[in-house]
Amino acid sequence: MPLLLHDTLSREKKAFVPDDPNRVTLYVCGPTVYNYAHIGNARPVVVFDVLFRLLRRLYGDEHVVYARNITDVDDKINQAAIDQGVDISVITDRFTAIYHQDMDALGALRPTIEPRATAHIDEMLALIGSLVERGHAYAAEGHVLFDTSSFAEYGQLSGRPLDDMIAGARVEVAPYKRNPADFVLWKPSKPGEPVWDSAWGPGRPGWHLECSAMIEKTLGPQIDIHGGGHDLIFPHHENELAQSRCAHDGPRLARYWLHNGFLTMDAEKMSKSLGNVKLVHELVKRVRPEVLRWALLSAHYRAPLDWTDSLIDQCKATLNGLYQTLRDAKAMLIGASDSVLGYGDPDFRFVKERVEGFVENSLEDDLNTPKAYLMLADAAGQLRSAITAGDLAQVAFHRGVLLEQAKLLGFLQQDPDAWFEGADDGLKAKVEALLAERVAARQAKDWTTADRIREELTALNIVVMDGPEGATWRLGESDPT
Ligand SMILES: [Zn+2]
Repeated sequence: MPLLLHDTLSREKKAFVPDDPNRVTLYVCGPTVYNYAHIGNARPVVVFDVLFRLLRRLYGDEHVVYARNITDVDDKINQAAIDQGVDISVITDRFTAIYHQDMDALGALRPTIEPRATAHIDEMLALIGSLVERGHAYAAEGHVLFDTSSFAEYGQLSGRPLDDMIAGARVEVAPYKRNPADFVLWKPSKPGEPVWDSAWGPGRPGWHLECSAMIEKTLGPQIDIHGGGHDLIFPHHENELAQSRCAHDGPRLARYWLHNGFLTMDAEKMSKSLGNVKLVHELVKRVRPEVLRWALLSAHYRAPLDWTDSLIDQCKATLNGLYQTLRDAKAMLIGASDSVLGYGDPDFRFVKERVEGFVENSLEDDLNTPKAYLMLADAAGQLRSAITAGDLAQVAFHRGVLLEQAKLLGFLQQDPDAWFEGADDGLKAKVEALLAERVAARQAKDWTTADRIREELTALNIVVMDGPEGATWRLGESDPT
């Protein structure tokens, strides 16, 4: 089965055919580096990381070029620099480093190229020159604007009447615009802001321009896939498309346009433990990053993702269950012969076949991660059955399958013992306290209290094992759905 991707421009799922399979190109709009990334900003990073991993698998690591820009000149950056009395690079260097740290924590591979806007001012000016020369842009009051009426297909990506889009996006009304939808390519800098010379007067670029310039510089005038959040379709991507096509009279900018849905937060559903933690930088300190990644991929990327405490709890329980199964498998396979372990080798034909089937049935179908999760649950179930049956070869085989499948999504690559050693200290303390309370209740023959405590432990996904030395406990299994 070929890779199918939903293209926003044609509004259909299409078989993916790259222009050149030896150089598959992907561009995703990156962060504006002036503060910490919100968990909603991490969704496209993780979604397109899965696509990047999949493309690398299909075309080879060396044949996929992924560029994600860093917007390091912008009104908000300028304001932060003025407020703190520092050069913009002080702000942008700091938050670029933090962004890398946070996205690395979420298991996202770094893009092949990370172009910075300020390093591409010449390319942006060349693009403006070409647009002015071809009659698609005009200078007015120190600004250069793109003339939307010069491009008949303007609005085709968002597919809504221009008036609706303008109303929805609150497009700035300015006296120097010929049409309300015309957008800024170049504008004068305010006092204290960074400034560059240009044929149209000193100033700085408009935001949309940088992506067109950097796509062309790093990947070429036409690319295979352009991605980003749903909120970027209009005006950002509509404007990128218009600029890039008009500057070269090109037939297209990207062969496929992919957009991920919103991450929504319901304040009422977030009232428990994580209610006011929305920054990745803070979240990764409280929740294991792999749990956050699992949660970010739990809905199909085009669907909205409802971010709640219970989603996080569920994902945590799921990963604990999967790691517990892997831990049990690992314990059984200690000392097993190479011939037994060979059944779990990634290169073993039957392991390869199963992984192939996993990719075809889930990821190649427009990155269907919910389906992938069901298939991982199935693989874990088979591993669990093999463990129960005590069949070492089957344990090795199903463990190999589960690990290889999960790897494609960036999951389950930690040592399972290490996963549990790092278990949440708060939970450990709570469980120990409940167990002590239960011992006291049993000694007092207070069975009602003892039962209630047991129920409370079950609700925490804790399995209690009573033995001659007293009670021990471990995290229980749960279905990864
Ligand atoms: Zn962009």
